[in-house]
Amino acid sequence: MTTDGSRIVVIGAGHAGGSAVALLRQYGWSGAIALIGAEPLPPYQRPPLSKAWLKGEADGDSLLLRPARFYADQRIDLRLSTRAVAIDRAERQVRLSDGAALEYAHLIISTGARPRTLSLPGADLRGVLTLRGAADADRLKAALGPGRRIAIIGGGYIGLEVAASARALGAEAVVLEREERVLARVACPVLSDFFTRYHAARGVAFELGCRIEALEGRGGAVAGVRLSDGRLVACDTVLVGVGAAADEDLARDAGLDCDGGIVVDGQARTSDPAIFAIGDCTRRPLPLYGRSFRLESVPNALEQAKQAAAAICGRPAPPPEVPWFWSDQYDIRLQIAGLPFDATETVLRGDPEAGSFAIFHLAADGTLRAVEAVSAAPEFMGGKMMIARRQRLLPERIRDTAISVKDLPA
Ligand code: NAP
Repeated sequence: MTTDGSRIVVIGAGHAGGSAVALLRQYGWSGAIALIGAEPLPPYQRPPLSKAWLKGEADGDSLLLRPARFYADQRIDLRLSTRAVAIDRAERQVRLSDGAALEYAHLIISTGARPRTLSLPGADLRGVLTLRGAADADRLKAALGPGRRIAIIGGGYIGLEVAASARALGAEAVVLEREERVLARVACPVLSDFFTRYHAARGVAFELGCRIEALEGRGGAVAGVRLSDGRLVACDTVLVGVGAAADEDLARDAGLDCDGGIVVDGQARTSDPAIFAIGDCTRRPLPLYGRSFRLESVPNALEQAKQAAAAICGRPAPPPEVPWFWSDQYDIRLQIAGLPFDATETVLRGDPEAGSFAIFHLAADGTLRAVEAVSAAPEFMGGKMMIARRQRLLPERIRDTAISVKDLPA
């Protein structure tokens, strides 16, 4: 169903949008494609921004999803440093910040998520940073090094990955988390404990269950974080990593259904059949878990890019994938397959002290829902397949490391 002359407009040139335009060409769309990106760079990978990029181990070109010439070669009209400011659904037009208007036959919204900020006194001091894009990462990089001290507000993925990078660069790091444990939103207590101890052994300080009153400054620059118990945590930089919210303003203003994310179906279609939404900005169905959810991950961006491109090009819908996530900190790789929805039991396989282990999350009937694996690739890979098959497992077999992962279902 390729229609020469009719245009697909993609708003947002992140991992999701950048992947969608490439897939549309791969699936045979021969009409015009326009990709609108607010940042000055062609689509690039964000995961290295808190890791290899900060540590100076990656250069600009290595971040790019595809070489810069790819877009011209593929006749993709890449408009950088440009924002979409409104969607006119009646006219099927997107209005851009430079005054242009683009008509579309199909529209894909891939606007991502924006970092939450803190509404606290001092939040606008110099040296108070967030991390989402390459320009943010450059600012952060300049603030890390020997003799520097960073206070990281939020012990999520961003907070812990930046803490590890800061230590690698010789800076002092303290993580301030309001929950009683780090990674509380995304991982189980065993993992939280493992990561806290791993970081602490490498010099990262933690304040868990803390409340922040204000950021305090000297000469306009941040100099410390005041806690509700009166203590001042001294620092010269603050990174705010307190989560992200879907960037759904354009969609909501255009009257599309939004509910903490642009609501889409299993083909990434919004409440307007001509408009798709993909990536961090969406609330999507999770067929394996019988509910909808907003996922913030590269695999999700790719899965939904495939869904939208397939639907637009008239190809069969791709099969649902098991959500997965990863995080690299120091020499450890955390890989999470699935989500622990409806899980009633956790089973530990391997030994956290040995640095390689996995936690299996089972529903009441034994069905595997999620696996959290620390430097345990077979458990992650095998777990992902078993989650997809809704495999039931016995806890005593999971615990027995003499049984290989592939033989666990027997
Ligand atoms: P996150 O995983 O939601 O973690 C934020 C943490 O900050 C939560 O534990 C939150 O606790 C805590 N927090 C919130 N308000 C706070 C406050 N006022 N004081 C102290 N702590 C506070 O989000 P993130 O780490 O900022 O990551 C942002 C985005 O980047 C997400 O999309 C994330 O998935 C993505 N990312 C992913 C990776 C990866 O997958 N490896 C790496 C980097 C970034 P509450 O739960 O109580 O709010």
